[in-house]
Amino acid sequence: MLKELIDKFYLDKEKEKEQHHFYITDAGKCPRAIFFKFKNVPRTKMAPEVLRMFDHGDYIQMQILNSLFSLGIVRAAEVKIPPHELISGRADAIVTLNNELYVVDFKSMNSLVFRNLQEPKEENVNQLQLYLHFFKIPKGILLYINKDTLELKEFLIEYNPALVEKLLKELTELKEKIDANIIPARIPGWPDDWQCQYCPFKEICKMAGGKEIKWEIFKEKIEALSKLA
Ligand code: SF4
Repeated sequence: MLKELIDKFYLDKEKEKEQHHFYITDAGKCPRAIFFKFKNVPRTKMAPEVLRMFDHGDYIQMQILNSLFSLGIVRAAEVKIPPHELISGRADAIVTLNNELYVVDFKSMNSLVFRNLQEPKEENVNQLQLYLHFFKIPKGILLYINKDTLELKEFLIEYNPALVEKLLKELTELKEKIDANIIPARIPGWPDDWQCQYCPFKEICKMAGGKEIKWEIFKEKIEALSKLA
């Protein structure tokens, strides 16, 4: 009945997400997982309810954005970065406060994560730093929203050119590996790093070993295993 139809809608929407270029959200993330996404390696599917939770987060963020519109401080919303050969991305909003521009990025999370949040998450800072760089705006705000209680926490972030240079260099190096078909090494924190805990390529990554490896060799291995299964 309806449940099956709605679940299928979410699963089909997820299927369309093949990756062909970098998103700003990739900055600073595990290069191996991004490599697997580019090569369309089969991943562990997310449950439809998890996908619905993401949608729910987006609605809450829109609600907060509406309140910023009502305050009359939004200069632009859902702003794409200028075209770039390596990366694309869209900031949630650019606002004016006391005659200064700020890039604002919303992040929603559950109560437990929100309660423990004492400083901005590294991956969110990386993302915002790239927005500051591409929009040439020196300050930004990470606005965290508790999805369960709608409480807010905010962190002011100042442009850090050295960090941006490092992030863009890492993405350039990863692009070279993707083009040369070299699977990057695992991240040093494997398997306890939070990225590994939530990684849809966990099993494939285990099979590939820890070091860099040629994609063609590994691909043959996984194709042979899938024929046996
Ligand atoms: S399990 Fe960890 S190291 Fe392996 S691809 Fe995923 S995030 Fe990267």
